[in-house]
Amino acid sequence: MGGTFDPIHNGHLVAASEVAAALNLDEVLFVPTGQPWQKDEVTATSDRYLMAEIATAANPRFKVSTIDIDRSGPTYTVDTLRELRELHPEADIFFITGADAVSSIASWKDSGELWDLAKFVAVTRPGHLLDLPDSPTGAIEFLEIPALAISSTDIRQRVAEGKPIWYLVPDGVVQFIAKHGLYGGVQ
Ligand code: NAP
Repeated sequence: MGGTFDPIHNGHLVAASEVAAALNLDEVLFVPTGQPWQKDEVTATSDRYLMAEIATAANPRFKVSTIDIDRSGPTYTVDTLRELRELHPEADIFFITGADAVSSIASWKDSGELWDLAKFVAVTRPGHLLDLPDSPTGAIEFLEIPALAISSTDIRQRVAEGKPIWYLVPDGVVQFIAKHGLYGGVQ
């Protein structure tokens, strides 16, 4: 599951759980982006990584990978998937991410190669209309996740405005954000 996770929230966790159940996955690997391509400012990788670890700690089938963080330069999904394919040659790999991100896949690096490296699972917010990208038949599966009404943008804004984020993100993530004064919140 790839994402900037700035911050990780309960919508991501419910989406991961729903996709794992629907596709009978053994494990969901959360892969926070290192330096996201096409984005100017994001929270430090160490903070985004630690929040992902805190959020997934209780679920033995959820793990967090630093492969995108450890690779220097901009994060391209083709590099992520090549590396995962090498690490797990026998695995069936599904790349789960937000449908808005998937809709721009044609502009991603080496986009033609992506379809051979993994199947794509695009999770959508309820009632959200999408521009579907050109892709081989069956290469992308769409799954609507009601809990994705929660968004990282909304959480960052709520923190900046001093509004509560309890129950939108795991308790440990609420505390991490407060302790480190992320998103312009009061420490
Ligand atoms: P984004 O533009 O920050 O997010 C687009 C939308 O998708 C937002 O609504 C976001 O909601 C949602 N989203 C993102 N990740 C999600 C996830 N794991 N589960 C559910 N919803 C998710 O997208 P991004 O985070 O930068 O990128 C997503 C993935 O695509 C990353 O792995 C990134 O490396 C990859 N990507 C690759 C390329 C490339 O190879 N050139 C280009 C763009 C993206 P929230 O803000 O609430 O998460």
